[in-house]
Amino acid sequence: MTRELFSENLRSRIHDDEWLICQDKYDPKENLKYESLFALSNGYLGIRGSHEEGTKITLPYLYINGVFDKSETFMRELSTLPNWLGIRLYIEKELIGIEDCEIIEFSRVLDMRGAFVGKRILLKDSKGRETLVEGLRFVSRNNVHRMGVKLYMTPLNYSGIVEVESIIDGSIINFYDAPRFKVKHTYMTANEKLAEDGGYVEVATREKHLHVGCGCRIEAYCDGKQILGNRMTSVFGEQNIEFGDIHVEEGKEVQIVKYVSMYSERECPTYELHSTIKKEIEGFVHTGFENELKLHEEVYHNMWENADIKITGDDDLNRAVRFNIFHLMSTGNEHDDHVNVGAKLLTGEEYGGHAFWDTELFMLPFFAWVFPKTAQNLENYRYYLLDAARENAHKNGFNGAQYPWESADDGSEQCPDWTIEPDGSCYRCYVAVYEHHVTAAVAYGIYDYVKITGDIDFLYTKGAEILTETARFWASRCEYNNEQDRYEINQVTGPDEWHEPVNNNLYTNYLARWNLKYVLSLLEVMKKEETSSYNELVEKTGLTEMETAKWKEVQEKIYLPRKEGTKLLEQFEGYFELDNVTIEKYDENDWPIRPEALKTKKAKETQINKQADVVMLLHLMGNEFDDETIKENYAYYEKRTLHGSSLSPSIYSVMGLKVGDDSKAYRYLRRAAFIDLLNMQGNTREGIHAANTGGVWQTIVFGFAGVSQREDSKLRVCPNMPEEWQNLTFRLHYKGAWLEITADKNNNAEVKRLCGEPVEVEVNGKIEMI
Ligand code: BGC
Repeated sequence: MTRELFSENLRSRIHDDEWLICQDKYDPKENLKYESLFALSNGYLGIRGSHEEGTKITLPYLYINGVFDKSETFMRELSTLPNWLGIRLYIEKELIGIEDCEIIEFSRVLDMRGAFVGKRILLKDSKGRETLVEGLRFVSRNNVHRMGVKLYMTPLNYSGIVEVESIIDGSIINFYDAPRFKVKHTYMTANEKLAEDGGYVEVATREKHLHVGCGCRIEAYCDGKQILGNRMTSVFGEQNIEFGDIHVEEGKEVQIVKYVSMYSERECPTYELHSTIKKEIEGFVHTGFENELKLHEEVYHNMWENADIKITGDDDLNRAVRFNIFHLMSTGNEHDDHVNVGAKLLTGEEYGGHAFWDTELFMLPFFAWVFPKTAQNLENYRYYLLDAARENAHKNGFNGAQYPWESADDGSEQCPDWTIEPDGSCYRCYVAVYEHHVTAAVAYGIYDYVKITGDIDFLYTKGAEILTETARFWASRCEYNNEQDRYEINQVTGPDEWHEPVNNNLYTNYLARWNLKYVLSLLEVMKKEETSSYNELVEKTGLTEMETAKWKEVQEKIYLPRKEGTKLLEQFEGYFELDNVTIEKYDENDWPIRPEALKTKKAKETQINKQADVVMLLHLMGNEFDDETIKENYAYYEKRTLHGSSLSPSIYSVMGLKVGDDSKAYRYLRRAAFIDLLNMQGNTREGIHAANTGGVWQTIVFGFAGVSQREDSKLRVCPNMPEEWQNLTFRLHYKGAWLEITADKNNNAEVKRLCGEPVEVEVNGKIEMI
């Protein structure tokens, strides 16, 4: 039991091993990975899991979701904000730090159940003094403006004076370790005392001057008495340091507590930032670290009640699944509908905190089934940025609304036109120019969200408007080919980014068609049954009969490439004429090895894919294809997909199960579940792969538990359990009821209603009133 490694201070709080991600050895080369794995977020802000005393290799980032800045960078990105984590302890000028002393013991743990990071380190300095430091940190989800660190420090073989520095570091910059990209997104507007005690730093973003304040106060206690002496707050450039000293006695534990609060101008006017933070910290001290932590844990307890997935018989996988759920649910925000969930959550800087199609197709299902309010916010975010999407379409010469491939706070395209390669050469990036399917994903997200939550109100008031404008976009994006009497989407990139651009990517054409079809049927219903919403919509959008007639024609005549006379769907026009390279070798983990042919040829010249593309289509629109078609296409594309993106394995897992490739499906699930824990894409240092976290959830719920909904929106459960598992249990929110679903190894399923009105569910083909 991991908790046995800790003294009573932490032992009583740390949960069972099934809830823990542990680090039991300090290796500086692993720092950046662990900073991502041990990042904490409360939906409002996120802070990476760096060490309090600082280390040489570190990217100690802190982000508040929604605080973006551009300045001289290629795109608006989440700004690195002043970091409050720093606490440095010195004994006679020697820093008690993991990189400054000999490490005798080292353990860190992410407790996912309690949502805190705990640690225990026993260090010996150059004079042989041994110090035990245990501690924990959390960012409260009870009050998202409170966060802190508590350290328990015991001098094991000495007595003396320990000097304490509590730091707010305003000097941290984005791309800290990439000289070419280094950028400071903020300038300092205040660096001063918080009150009588404590420190306060305020910064503003450089472009829009959005202010963010961070205040801290440090306390030290022994036997319940305050013992911090000689307090003072000093300002060193962009650092604010609160100093104090404590007399320590051999064998006697002292506690050092850092209370922190942050607010941004997004929720508090600039002139009130300092006073609000000061008050918040006073309130925090009054509530007490322990009590706030308890309230925070209660919130997580309730979140886990609904979000947990329990798998009996596969402990390490279950822990990995929880890890993915933990990070995803920690980032979702149920209070703010002007923020989204970035491709790296709030755990790292790759993709600048931008939202992609990852949100709608990978993460939204989890939120819609488990945290419907957060899902609604994600939908509202797209509605709030509808005008920006209209502008984007206009700018690119199209009608309606075109959602940006990468979206930050203002809805303009944030995918850079240019990037700089490691050798300094500039690289023109065409992703946003050609990759348009995100607009269909936004439309699909509305359909899915409404089907899951039954939020018809959203559909009629906001969803229908988005769907109308996205349909408009697709109709204008399609070109009529006179010769073939068909509509086409040319010069486009599908999900597989290694073929860029192509003509008539099946996935894109199919989803465009779906968008047009869906809105046409929705308009029919609204016209008859929701006349006032319909009229409002027509008024707002200027929709005409002529236009809808055109949409009808486009969707009927849109080209959907396939290999004539077979069941094979063609990823894009001409795909089957490319060099038919297949994956023939697999590594010891049964993971595809890059074919030799790619040494001399570009992937673009071959049929080798980066990620699920046709198979992604089958995942979303499976009901529209017969079993044979799904099976043949899965087999064909599986042999040609290298999973160069983390968005791929989970989809192959769900679809593998559909076609009876059960053992592969299980291996794909493991791959997805461990992608970050084992750093399998090699870039966990840049942040947790957000889409994959949602993909893991989908793999279990839609794949192994066989949860589905068809057009009638009825819930169906039809498990397909791997032989490794004895039992699987999880909860879903369905039509106002909370359901608990359990499956056993023989694929029997039981659905219990925990609250809400009775609902009809089809369990293994039998209709039951639950
Ligand atoms: C993938 C995209 C994805 C993006 C952000 C890329 O590598 O190919 O499908 O949206 O990463 O996660």
